[in-house]
Amino acid sequence: MKEYLADEPVIIESGSGCRLRDVKGHEYWDGVSSVWLNVHGHRVPELDAAIRRQLDYIAHSTLLGMANVPAILLAEKLIQIAPPGLAKVFYSDSGAEAVEIALKMAFQYWKNRGVDGKTTFVTMREAYHGDTVGAVSVGSIDLFHQVYSPLLFPSIKIPFPNVYRSPFGDTAEEVKNGSLKMVEEVFQQRGDEIAAMIVEPVQGAGGMIPMPAGYLRELRRLCSAYDILLIVDEVATGFGRTGKMFACEHDGVTPDIMTVAKGITGGYLPIAATLTTDTVYDAFYADYDELKTLYHGHSYTGNQLGCAVALANLELFEQKKLVSEVEQKAKELAVYLEPIRSLSHVGDVRQAGFMVGIELVEDKATKKPFPWQQRLGVRVCRRCRELGMLLRPLTDVVVFMPPLSATLQELKEMTNILYQAIAEVTEDTSVV
Ligand SMILES: *Cc1c(COP(=O)(O)O)cnc(C)c1O
Repeated sequence: MKEYLADEPVIIESGSGCRLRDVKGHEYWDGVSSVWLNVHGHRVPELDAAIRRQLDYIAHSTLLGMANVPAILLAEKLIQIAPPGLAKVFYSDSGAEAVEIALKMAFQYWKNRGVDGKTTFVTMREAYHGDTVGAVSVGSIDLFHQVYSPLLFPSIKIPFPNVYRSPFGDTAEEVKNGSLKMVEEVFQQRGDEIAAMIVEPVQGAGGMIPMPAGYLRELRRLCSAYDILLIVDEVATGFGRTGKMFACEHDGVTPDIMTVAKGITGGYLPIAATLTTDTVYDAFYADYDELKTLYHGHSYTGNQLGCAVALANLELFEQKKLVSEVEQKAKELAVYLEPIRSLSHVGDVRQAGFMVGIELVEDKATKKPFPWQQRLGVRVCRRCRELGMLLRPLTDVVVFMPPLSATLQELKEMTNILYQAIAEVTEDTSVV
């Protein structure tokens, strides 16, 4: 708080496309899509109109014990675009809530089926699933989570298959195989205690780290073999971000439970959802006195304005063939990022579609990080701000997540700023 108050705050007044404007009239690129949300840019006429249209019907009525029109239409649409086999939608208002619901659903699924003892979760080190206490219990970023540890339920944490830094080896194949072997050992030893495993297909807040290709497919196979539910958290990766509608599609995987939020409304309003299969749903489908209800609900669940804009967002995806366009543009983006790789303090440039992490290191050869007190990530982002782009780092990983609508020209201009800021700040680290 002290630092925030000492610094000059940016107070946003308006936005348009990929640009934001503050109250002093400064303009910036929205280089992280307003923290990983924005899809088609700001003030999109079709999305604005969808909200105005819905206002002429109703802004909100409860979803508890009843339904509403846009919530039904959106659920239908989500099932249509989700990996095959996901058939039911449970709404909430944020990614963290979608995760809470996933955890409770997985836990109770086994209870409702009369299976005792499957009460634990497996997660990955450096995982991030949101800031509520359940989501933090399956999270594993010490900086954010350590202080709350006495409040949390225990979970089994295994290393994420991070090819840049892994105890399992240096190649994607070694890391994949080593990590999967460890997962299988855990499943063998403790499978009877495990309700579910939760994963991010690209570790987001942990540093923008994609899984090796084929990893998720093997994980799906192991979860099925050991009777463990697979929860895939697509809150950051969903809705085109990685060049597929959902990151699961890269590996042809259908999870038992999938969480979505962030891009679902194009970055307009807080809607989230937990999707699941008929198999999981059926375990809750029972007479009242069997007490199999999933007791969970939020006041604003299924909000009509949010669902209406989410529907308009998904229509725009189709009209603009946005997912395949992102897949194409991401190839050009990789070319624009190439010069950054050769900077002397850039250890790794990771990219999954429009999800980019640039890891800064003191020593490229040994991958030795900068002392955290130097706050290189923060300093690079501060320089970007001076140069006209707003970013938010993850320690020494500079995150670049432009809106999916960004044109090649806009991507070029943004990556030029990125290059200049990283070069200026890191090539002259003597000036601290
Ligand atoms: C952002 C995020 C969340 C939390 O979503 P909120 O809407 O901020 O609560 C959960 N999981 C992942 C993977 C995320 O990136």
